[in-house]
Amino acid sequence: MSDKFAAPIFRPNTINLFLVLVIIFFVFGCFCRSDRDVLPASNSSEPVSNQSGNTKTETTKNNSADKSGGGQKDDKGDFIVEHGTVQNARYKEIDQQIKDEKVLEDAAAQLNKNLKLPTDVYLRTKDCGEVNALYDPNDTSITVCYELMEHFYTLFKASGKTDQQAYDKMFDAVRFVFLHELGHAMIDLYNLPITANEEDAADRVSAYICLEEIEGGVTSVLAAADAFSLESKSRSTGKRDMADEHLLQEQRFYNSLCMIYGSNTVKYENIVRQGYLPKERAVRCQTEYERTMQSWQELLKPWRKK
Ligand SMILES: [Zn+2]
Repeated sequence: MSDKFAAPIFRPNTINLFLVLVIIFFVFGCFCRSDRDVLPASNSSEPVSNQSGNTKTETTKNNSADKSGGGQKDDKGDFIVEHGTVQNARYKEIDQQIKDEKVLEDAAAQLNKNLKLPTDVYLRTKDCGEVNALYDPNDTSITVCYELMEHFYTLFKASGKTDQQAYDKMFDAVRFVFLHELGHAMIDLYNLPITANEEDAADRVSAYICLEEIEGGVTSVLAAADAFSLESKSRSTGKRDMADEHLLQEQRFYNSLCMIYGSNTVKYENIVRQGYLPKERAVRCQTEYERTMQSWQELLKPWRKK
């Protein structure tokens, strides 16, 4: 919506997207599996915006021992960029910039340097005709739709952010979503054992990567939490939401805060002190986070390249 989203404002910030994707792949380097996804949402907006987020979370936890089971996997595929032709004129500029700057190409190169794959995985950014981002197991592709980026921008703008703030948060949220989809891809292609809700697992691996593998990545988890919160307030929860495979946006909001707080209870203590996260849940977050982190580290170990 809004013409504001078109060219003029979008352009200067495109660089953020480039950095977002490249940094992800450069630092982390390896994953993937699943279907369609849109970020749902939860209550209590403006969760921890004053978090001064940046700073890389120190990886000082009891690292999941090097007890990687199973041997190393064979590398039989690559991350491959696929560019299409944008249909909606409003997205032409961002589409062209992504192509010109070779954002996806750089990202694919970094991923290929760090991760093994059992088959090729295609990376796409395009207009989809709907607000979405998805991993498609049928053609093993990860797609981020321009409509989703616009949705985030509009959402943050409507919450009172300036154009620049809305764009910055949009890119942060997109990074969280991309990693969520990468999580689906990994679960699928690596045939990883997930014993509970896969959507929740994808959220958690995204949070884990942001908090452990990406410098300043906490801003992405915060942006996603904000989006969950804002989206939950924009509509009432119905039967369809309750039955959906995604957790309710409110739950995703609190889970995101729990991951952040659990990653460093001293650094992020204001999340609890200021009442964003109830103490009853907060006391469990460190253990919850460490289990999540250790589980993913172990699961991905056979697929990481040296
Ligand atoms: Zn999902």
